Amino acid sequence: MRRKPKKRRPNTRFYILIASITFIALISGLLNTFFSQARAEKDLSELTEIATVTNNEEIKTTSSQEIILEEEGEEEGIEIKSATPQEDGDEKVAYITIDDGPSAYTESFLELFDLYNVKATFFMIDGNMKKHPNAVNKMLNEGHGIGLHSVSHDAKKIYASLNNVIDEMDEERKTLQALTGSDTTLIRTPYGSKPHLNDEWTASIQKLGYQIWDWNVDSEDWKNRDRRMVKTVIQEVRALELVEKEPVILFHDTKATLEHIEDVIVFLLDEGYELRAIDESISPLTW
Ligand SMILES: [Zn+2]
Repeated sequence: MRRKPKKRRPNTRFYILIASITFIALISGLLNTFFSQARAEKDLSELTEIATVTNNEEIKTTSSQEIILEEEGEEEGIEIKSATPQEDGDEKVAYITIDDGPSAYTESFLELFDLYNVKATFFMIDGNMKKHPNAVNKMLNEGHGIGLHSVSHDAKKIYASLNNVIDEMDEERKTLQALTGSDTTLIRTPYGSKPHLNDEWTASIQKLGYQIWDWNVDSEDWKNRDRRMVKTVIQEVRALELVEKEPVILFHDTKATLEHIEDVIVFLLDEGYELRAIDESISPLTW
């Protein structure tokens, strides 16, 4: 009876040992498999995460670029939409015109205009252009307006017939072309278009392509060769402001005007006017 338990004990121990080894082996195998699977899963998940992050970054980058572009586009759009009408609305333009030159004073006028960075328009006499070709070329190079103002400047001669008006303008136009290589269709007939040109003559001259420019502010510098010309311009410009008309101011190419025109320029700039040259794109002021 005793043997049996004795015999059983080693057998039992043996089986327990075998079972334990098998169990340990199984467990370690399972654990090994589990850990390697877990590692693989971890690696995979890390890779996936990296891939996801990369994709997200790419997505983020792309979308942020799009946002930036959209914002820039919007900003540009706003600028264009808002700036243009404001500029147009606030724009105040005046035209200084200088008749009967060029003269010995013209280059000093040009220096003054350059100093204030303003432009003017010169309606010149044929003989004076021939006397001062350098002044004509200088005003062209500096972006001032150029217009024809007749050959004779004699009302009795030029207004004797329509043909006389046309002939004098055509002749002076050829002089300008010969002296400068430039052309103009801007004209100011001596002493203004009315009452010298009737409607029929005006229409015929315009049909030839000439643009007739009169004025709406007379400085009266031909009569008042002193500070009164400044006062006159200020009064007339203020009167035009009330009816929102762009001033086209008449001056003459003389020493007295050279001495006083600076005060007029300062007044106009202070009032917010931009002083521009007349060119063919501007609708002419004809009486
Ligand atoms: Zn004149």
